[in-house]
Amino acid sequence: MNQFQYVRAVSSKTAVATLAKDPSAKFIAGGTNLIDLMKNGVTAPQKLIDINNLPLAEIKKQANSLYIGALATNSGVADNKLVLQNQPLLAMALNAGASAQLRNVATVGGNMMQRTRCYYFYNTDLPCNKRQPGSGCGALEGINRMHAIFGFSQQCIAVHPSDMCVALAALDATVLVSRPKGDRKILFTDFHRLPGDHPEKDNTLAKDELITGVEIPDNSFGKNIHYLKVRDRASYAFALVSVAAALNIKNGTIKEARLAMGGVAHKPWRLTEAEKALVGKPASEETFKHAAEIAMQGAKGFKYNSFKLKMAPNTIIQALKTASATA
Ligand code: SF4
Repeated sequence: MNQFQYVRAVSSKTAVATLAKDPSAKFIAGGTNLIDLMKNGVTAPQKLIDINNLPLAEIKKQANSLYIGALATNSGVADNKLVLQNQPLLAMALNAGASAQLRNVATVGGNMMQRTRCYYFYNTDLPCNKRQPGSGCGALEGINRMHAIFGFSQQCIAVHPSDMCVALAALDATVLVSRPKGDRKILFTDFHRLPGDHPEKDNTLAKDELITGVEIPDNSFGKNIHYLKVRDRASYAFALVSVAAALNIKNGTIKEARLAMGGVAHKPWRLTEAEKALVGKPASEETFKHAAEIAMQGAKGFKYNSFKLKMAPNTIIQALKTASATA
């Protein structure tokens, strides 16, 4: 492993100032992905800025939203009473991710910053535009079973691996960011980006910015929520396809709907057109099938992942059926 400096940040302000001064530095919190990347030689930061001492682990109810600090652990969020009362879809998605041991140390901010699990990205002997821009995409004509069916480019067909982020995209969350020239907010659906010609960039965070938390607006979905994850084994596996579904149903009619998919694109894939198709319609299998058809418009499979073209709509329909049945 390459040598690196290790420093502990004492405030968000000093953390971002230290990062701004050193282009190769990286923040570290739980380290569940970053340490793997360093061990595999995918990244070699000259400096690690440990942010674990910053007061960013709080979870609190605000006037119209729930605030979750960036250093709250995945298990701490999933088990938190306020989260279970106000945003149970988030808890369900978190519990579908990784393993209990990883959830105990992985943080909300780190979960958002985790990188794709594309095999070519982690193997430094193989071409990968995300790891080394201009080297090519090994997955495009290679083993692409886990890869994208939406929003990809000729440069990269990787998917974002998070479950938590799929729920946060569906729940209209906002990302809170600290930077040298003041704080700013980013809509969660604008945080992660599609690969385009720059697959090396996973998100819209600037080099000198630190995620300090997320805010999730209150909603009326109650128990009509479901997170369905389809994967190769029942635990500790990334999604082939996942769906976060939330419905507001009154007298059998859908008043409001939220849908997002994971495992299908370079970012959590919000299904706004399918949501529109659900609103005002009866909460029936026919409605859900129609919404799934709309959701799949524009999807394209590759040699080894075309099964997702069938799996994805089926997962949407099943997630909506389960969400609507828990009234
Ligand atoms: Fe690299 Fe993206 Fe291609 Fe995977 S899909 S090899 S991450 S460029």
